[in-house]
Amino acid sequence: MTNNCQYCSKKIPISKVFCSAECKESFFQKIVISVPKPFVKKLYFFCSEEQRESEIKVFAKRHNWHEKLVTEKVEELFEEYYKCG
Ligand SMILES: [Zn+2]
Repeated sequence: MTNNCQYCSKKIPISKVFCSAECKESFFQKIVISVPKPFVKKLYFFCSEEQRESEIKVFAKRHNWHEKLVTEKVEELFEEYYKCG
């Protein structure tokens, strides 16, 4: 029996929830990141890929969040808001 890391989905023993301390930290940091829906919309519909990257960089810096985590969160929200159904 195996479990999957809640953050990166890697296979791990059933007794564990995360594969590493980094994944655990990233998971909990990502929970507190909140990205407004209009910002997600703007990034995907009104920005080029380079603009999107720099917008995310500024946004992450302003809130003191990891850029990588913000990027992941934005991608997840975009899927959730605009890709299902
Ligand atoms: Zn992991």
